[in-house]
Amino acid sequence: MSGPVGDAFLGEKAYYVSTPIYYVNDAPHIGHAYTTTAGDFLTRWHRQRGEKVWYLTGVDEHGTKVQRAADAGGVTPQQWVDRLVEQSWLPVLETVDAANDDFIRTTQTRHIERVQKFWEHIRDNGFVYSAPYEGPYCVGCEEFKFPGTWSREQVSSKVNWCARCMENRPKNCARTTGSSNSRLLAIV
Ligand SMILES: [Zn+2]
Repeated sequence: MSGPVGDAFLGEKAYYVSTPIYYVNDAPHIGHAYTTTAGDFLTRWHRQRGEKVWYLTGVDEHGTKVQRAADAGGVTPQQWVDRLVEQSWLPVLETVDAANDDFIRTTQTRHIERVQKFWEHIRDNGFVYSAPYEGPYCVGCEEFKFPGTWSREQVSSKVNWCARCMENRPKNCARTTGSSNSRLLAIV
């Protein structure tokens, strides 16, 4: 991090840019560096014009893929992401010389508390409600699919990857998991 950043801009409107909060199931690749550099380029230009700028990047440390990668590595999810962030993700910011103002991790207390406040707020205003939902879920896409998009074979073989992900997955990523969660129950 560098440049006119931080508390000086608190409370004032800034030109705000965020990269995607990158998924941290593995080390960063050139696509992450490219996206971070594009955001950096944009925010540097606005900063150079004397505008207030806030440039955020960070990592999403939650999800089934993270859990599976940690399991495969024989460590806890937190140990997995701690190591990756320290050894792989933060060094990339130095390599590309990104002038980000903040780096958020979804396991940080500040993030967890704000997310909880957000959900409490929309629940209190009646925008969401709790109910059970069951349906085909693709671990690759990380989303529920319409029941019709899931073939009978996939359901019976308990392969929780959609046809597109099965086709595009890396060869070394043999994902015919033995788990029984081809249909997951989600409580929203
Ligand atoms: Zn998929």
